[in-house]
Amino acid sequence: MQNHTHNVLLYYLYTPIEDPETFAAEHLAACKELGLKGRILVSKEGINGTCSGTIEQTEAYMEMVKSDSRFSDIIFKIDAADGHAFKKMHVRPKKEIVHLGLEEDINPHELTGTYLEPAEFYKRMQDQDTIVLDARNDYEYDLGHFRGAVRPDVENFRDLPEWVRENKEMFEGKKILTYCTGGIRCEKFSGWLKREGFEDVAQLHGGIATYGKDPEVKGQLWDGQMYVFDERIAVPINQVEHVVVGKDHFTGEPCERYVNCANPECNKKILASEENEHKYMRSCSDECREHPRNRYAFEHGLTGAEVQERLDALKETV
Ligand SMILES: [Zn+2]
Repeated sequence: MQNHTHNVLLYYLYTPIEDPETFAAEHLAACKELGLKGRILVSKEGINGTCSGTIEQTEAYMEMVKSDSRFSDIIFKIDAADGHAFKKMHVRPKKEIVHLGLEEDINPHELTGTYLEPAEFYKRMQDQDTIVLDARNDYEYDLGHFRGAVRPDVENFRDLPEWVRENKEMFEGKKILTYCTGGIRCEKFSGWLKREGFEDVAQLHGGIATYGKDPEVKGQLWDGQMYVFDERIAVPINQVEHVVVGKDHFTGEPCERYVNCANPECNKKILASEENEHKYMRSCSDECREHPRNRYAFEHGLTGAEVQERLDALKETV
């Protein structure tokens, strides 16, 4: 991006923070003072954040964080942007900086998979005896993933260990490569895989975000786009080719545009073209279309009779 005005930062560090509540309050005040927007989680195990600001604001922030000796090893992934990627600024104290919800937690400083730099990951990914396991959620995978990677059928990271146990035979005798957006989820998850008894476990250091910027691999073998948890939603990774893997929820046509189901109780992320968003009232099912608090119906001022008319028309075309 040429002549960009803003940056979006993505970063984490597993490092002890004694009093996460006090730290969060002070950190929030400092972020607001700088004019940043974003979402930062802190816990006794470390910090996990993503935020946006002008180039000056984000540079001042990185300097501030690194000046604290606890965070001197932190790595910031920096995306150029034309504006903020968040509406508000939150810093929240949590039990974990990524919620894997294990009864016995993993400390990545003690147990984690082998770190692979992008070039090594690219090479190893193509080995026959290797299985590439996406450590993210199903809707993240559906927008884009490494070619041939396994898609865990989970909506939440905390459900991943159970899914692996249920599908254990898939991984037996294989070398396992895991990856996630920025690397934080794999730090714990690859450690858990080792504790489960999988012997050869490696992780993509710095995650997909770092892989896409690597001057050597240039994001190759990544298909689609990377899902991000900010207003951009989708960002490009593969600098050499763009293969669309996302499919429209309604028609199966190639699509990389996410919307949330208009039923507030469902709110599921669905890929949909603008045309289909309107045709199907931005709702994933008939049940959601008929929901009395359907947000699409509300936004478009549709009366009950009008909604019924649209539903009948849809049923006729199927
Ligand atoms: Zn729905």
